[in-house]
Amino acid sequence: MSQTTPLAVQLSDEWGTSSDQLVHAVWHVLWAHPWFVVLATLLVVRAGVRMVRDVVHPGHARDAVRTFTRADKITILTRAGGRCEHHGWLGGRCQQTGALEADHVHPHSRGGWTDLANGQALCRRHNKAKAARVPWGWELNRLSRRRATYFAPGTPTEVVRHRPRWTAPG
Ligand SMILES: [Zn+2]
Repeated sequence: MSQTTPLAVQLSDEWGTSSDQLVHAVWHVLWAHPWFVVLATLLVVRAGVRMVRDVVHPGHARDAVRTFTRADKITILTRAGGRCEHHGWLGGRCQQTGALEADHVHPHSRGGWTDLANGQALCRRHNKAKAARVPWGWELNRLSRRRATYFAPGTPTEVVRHRPRWTAPG
């Protein structure tokens, strides 16, 4: 007489085995590639930091003016010496001098002011990479200190994120 295992038990056994194998395989991959764990952790931390920043910089009303005037754009590019103002940790200041764009240091979509005080010259690549990221205060301070080395003497180097309330129209 042959022993027949009930189908439900058979299925749960199979499921149990395959899920054990899956867990085992995942652990194996994680142990074999610890950098993957580090990368995943960094991504989670980065997402968390961005969420906190969004809370710290809550909805400033958007500037009604979206784009810099032609005159402002010329001033922004000229004071930067016609060169991208992006500064990398390793490579230093970007060498790009062609096809520069006038960018909001504090993004317009996050309430950044459309004004020379919140403008910077960026190449297309760095403007795209920056997207709507809100810079930290210390990043603005570093930008201001670097600018002192290439802005003409007397040109304000400080970044002002938002339109001062007392000049807000309406
Ligand atoms: Zn650049």
